[in-house]
Formats: sequence, C-alpha cells, structure tokens
Amino acid sequence: MTKGTAGPEGDAATSPSGGPPERAPRRIVVIGGGMAGLVAARTLLRRGLRVTVLERSGRFGGTVDGRLLGGFQLDSGAESFSTRSATVPALAAELGLDGRIVTPDATGAWVQLPGRDLRASAQPLPSSGVLGIPADPSDPAITAVIGRSGSLRAALDRVLPVGPLATRKKVSLGELVRTRMGEEVLTRLVAPVAGGVFSADPDDLDVDSVAPGLRATMARLGSLGAAAGALRQAAPAGAAVAGLVGGMAQLRDALVAELTADGADLRTGEQVTGLVRSGTGWTVTTEHSTLTRRISADGVLVATEGRAAVDLLAPAIPALAAERPDPVPGVALVTLIVDVPELDAAPRGTGVLVARGVEGVAAKALTHSTAKWAWLRDQAGPGSHVLRLSYGRVGDTPADVGLATPDGALYRHALADASALLGVPILEADVLDWDVVRWAGALPHASVGHRERVARIRGLVADQSASLAVTGGWLAGTGLVAVIDDARARAGVLADALAEGPAVAL
Ligand SMILES: Cc1cc2nc3c(=O)[nH]c(=O)nc-3n(C[C@H](O)[C@H](O)[C@H](O)COP(=O)(O)OP(=O)(O)OC[C@H]3O[C@@H](n4cnc5c(N)ncnc54)[C@H](O)[C@@H]3O)c2cc1C
Repeated sequence: MTKGTAGPEGDAATSPSGGPPERAPRRIVVIGGGMAGLVAARTLLRRGLRVTVLERSGRFGGTVDGRLLGGFQLDSGAESFSTRSATVPALAAELGLDGRIVTPDATGAWVQLPGRDLRASAQPLPSSGVLGIPADPSDPAITAVIGRSGSLRAALDRVLPVGPLATRKKVSLGELVRTRMGEEVLTRLVAPVAGGVFSADPDDLDVDSVAPGLRATMARLGSLGAAAGALRQAAPAGAAVAGLVGGMAQLRDALVAELTADGADLRTGEQVTGLVRSGTGWTVTTEHSTLTRRISADGVLVATEGRAAVDLLAPAIPALAAERPDPVPGVALVTLIVDVPELDAAPRGTGVLVARGVEGVAAKALTHSTAKWAWLRDQAGPGSHVLRLSYGRVGDTPADVGLATPDGALYRHALADASALLGVPILEADVLDWDVVRWAGALPHASVGHRERVARIRGLVADQSASLAVTGGWLAGTGLVAVIDDARARAGVLADALAEGPAVAL
C-alpha cells in the first residue's frame, strides 16, 4: 500500500467579522506523549498556547502504564515516586488525586548477597543513607551486610582526607564509594540499590546526576558517610517513596483527561518522522497508518526517548549526531499472581534487590507488591500475592536472562527465582495468572559526564532556535520527579520565548 499525503495543517487566522486576521494563539507541537510530553503540554496550555501532542504508540504515558492481570489493576512500569521533593504530590493534588497517595509498608526491602546458602545470605537492607551508602558503617545493621572487615574498611572514610574526589570533574558513583568506603560497601549495598533503581552499574553512573549535592556535602562535612546521613536527614521524614491507591497509571489518566478538557489536541498513532525549519516556525512530518501529514508549528518540544530525539533533531542540528545515546539493555518484568499463604508473613519485606554474583538467580530484583502496598493486599485477601520480578541490566551479555528471553523461559525463571529469593517454594500449580511486560530502551541512565553532555545538547538546541526545546528522562534523569520538573522548566522557557517572537508565517 502506498502512503497518501495530506495537505499541511495550519491556521487560516481570519476574523469572523471579515476584518483583518486575528492572531491565533501560537501552536506548539509536543513530540512524544510520555509523562514528559504530557506535563510539558499542560504547562504550555496554561500559558495560553495551542498544543498538539503527537504520540507514536497507541496510548499516552510512555513508561507509566497499567493493565488488568488476574483481576488486579497493576502498574506496568513506574509504580511509585520519590517523596524527597513535593513535585509529584503537588501534581497529584492539582489533578485531584491527593487522597490516593499512600506510602509503602514500613518493613522495607532486603538484599540478596552471594553465598552458598541463599537464605543465610539475605539481609534486610539498611535505609539510613543514600543509594545504599551508609551514614554510619559501624551500625550493626550495616555490619550484618558488609561484614566486620568491610565495616572497618568503610570506617576509613571518616579519616581519609577529602582530596580531589570532591571537586574533580566526571566522578562515577562507583569510584566515589570504592575510594571512600571500599569494595564491600560498593558491591553489597550500593550496587544492588543502583541496579534496582537505574538498571546500571555504579561505575557507569554519574554521581552528581544520581545523587545531586552528595560531593559538595562531603567536601563540607569531611566524609562520605556524613554527607549521606545529612542528605537523608534533609529529606522529608518517613518513607522515601509513595504511590497511588489503584496505581500510578492514574496520574497519566488524569493528565490526559485534563488536557482533553482544556482543549489540547492529543493524538496517538502519530509517529513523527521529520522536523524542519520553515519561516519562523517548524514543519513536523508524521506518519499515521497510511497517511503522511505535515503540521506547521510556531514551536516544537521534543519529549521522546534519547535516540529518537537525536534522530529527529540531527538533520537540523548535525552536531547532535555525536550525542546520540548508546542503546540501553531494557528490562523485562514478569508478574506472578500466586496463591501461597506462606507469603502472608512477607518473608523478605517489600521485596529483594539482588547483588551481582548470586548463583542460580537471574532476576535483578523482586517486588512483593502485596506486601509493599496495603491497598493491593486488601484487594487480594489472605493467601493471594502479587510478585513482580525484573530482568536485564547494563553489562548483560546475550546469554543473560533479559529483554530478549522468550516469555515461557522468563516465566520459568521467575518461578524459580521467586522461590529462591523468598525462601518459599512457589509451584506452577500455585500460579493464578502471569504476564511479561517488556521495556526496550526505557531506562536511560546518567553515565559519567552526564551533566556536561546535557549542557552541550541544550546549548546546541538553544543555538538552533528559541522555538525549539527538548526534554525527557534521557536528559533530566530517570524518575518521575526529575522528568516532571524538567518538562515544566523547558515548557516554561519555550512559552517565554514564543511570547516574544513573531507568529509562524503560514
Ligand atoms: C519498568 C520501569 C519502572 C520504573 N519505575 C519507576 C518508579 O517506580 N518511580 C519513578 O519515579 N520512575 C520510574 N521509572 C522511570 C519513569 O517511568 C521514567 O523516568 C519517566 O516516565 C520517563 O518519561 P519520558 O516521558 O521522559 O519518557 P517515556 O516514558 O519513554 O516517553 C517517551 C514517549 O515518546 C514516544 N515517542 C518516541 N518516539 C516518537 C516519535 N518519533 N513520534 C512520536 N512519539 C514518539 C514514545 O512512544 C513514548 O510514549 C520506571 C521506568 C521503567 C521502565
């Protein structure tokens, strides 16, 4: 089938009275309808601009999505948000969802360490620091995980001079922790936490991006432990994360409903394939089933994943091609709904983070969702449980279990891994339902030098035109707080620029 081409979409801004044309509000096209695109669209709409959101897939929300499984409404991607900032609670309140905010069960998560006896090598994960970095390595809960010698080595952090690590450019989380506190803290505490949150190795993570302020606080207070403790104390009391009764996908649903009611033009199934300057504005080309469309816009905000963003922008800004992010391995999530009354006791709290090198376990993390969220536990009733296991991390080889592993094999791994990690046999006969959700390229991580790279990208985009902006997790950093804050900020700058410039010539 050949594709048709529709005429250009634009505004013939004639006045109803037949007089001189009235100036229609400027039109912004937002490319990508994930949380970044939706939140940016909301800001732009509130600034009086006309907004069109073009989303490639058949739904909005990107990595925020849900589905029904075994009668439960479950999140398919993000299932919580950080409470270290008021960003998400404030947005939820504006959208009428504040009454649904809940914190997870206080029992906390465990870490599974390598060892001949898996049960004996599982420990509650201490929660006194930041990203697994302990505030006080001599705390017995920490010594239980890193051992006596690990604890003694970590204590050197208190006496070592701060040195250039506090100020040098480009320091990884791994280098900082290894140098200050030693290998045991790194591999047994920090790496499992970083792997669970970012699907990345601490040696690949830019410390200033994943723990902003940590190095500056270390320089001020004289040790990494003191800095981790201070950052932890500065965070609001209570749990570090929260969720929504009924799941995080409601945030997406509420945003879409509000944008629709406020007159945004929201389109799914529209893959943007081209972006060129035209006059003072832009022409956006989209492919929608068999039709190629051209849309004129005064401004464009690109809110796709990183590789897609660079592919769209590089024809206009060739220097961006060198900044195309490396592919990320992606994750596969296996959800099991099981009838296993022994799990009512929540044997590993809210779940388990798995350190590298644990033999016989392929999962990198297990969330015991019915132990973590009371609303889900109440829905399930005694004996029934929801378990979510994740597979795939940076550095995996094709032989590792991950995104490319077929469903049936992932399911068998999930049964074996859940049994091993929870210390309770879970058989096929116990399974009420299960599924696999795959996220390809969905967890970009802030690799070393991230902030400089982001500054270069933003500079190149700004040099091209004030009517162009770029946002999304690949620049802002993984997590809803960073993504929402950045989307709002970029949309605000774009709205300011368009308030000053001339409207697009049509
Ligand atoms: C499994 C998983 C669990 C997570 N858990 C949490 C969590 O618990 N808490 C938390 O805070 N964060 C979590 N995150 C991270 C969080 O979900 C993301 O950081 C955030 O949602 C990213 O939003 P985004 O809009 O930048 O990108 P995306 O969600 O990737 O959205 C980009 C959108 O652009 C669209 N697009 C791409 N190319 C085009 C094109 N050419 N034309 C039109 N549209 C296009 C895509 O289809 C997609 O919808 C998780 C992520 C994953 C994958």
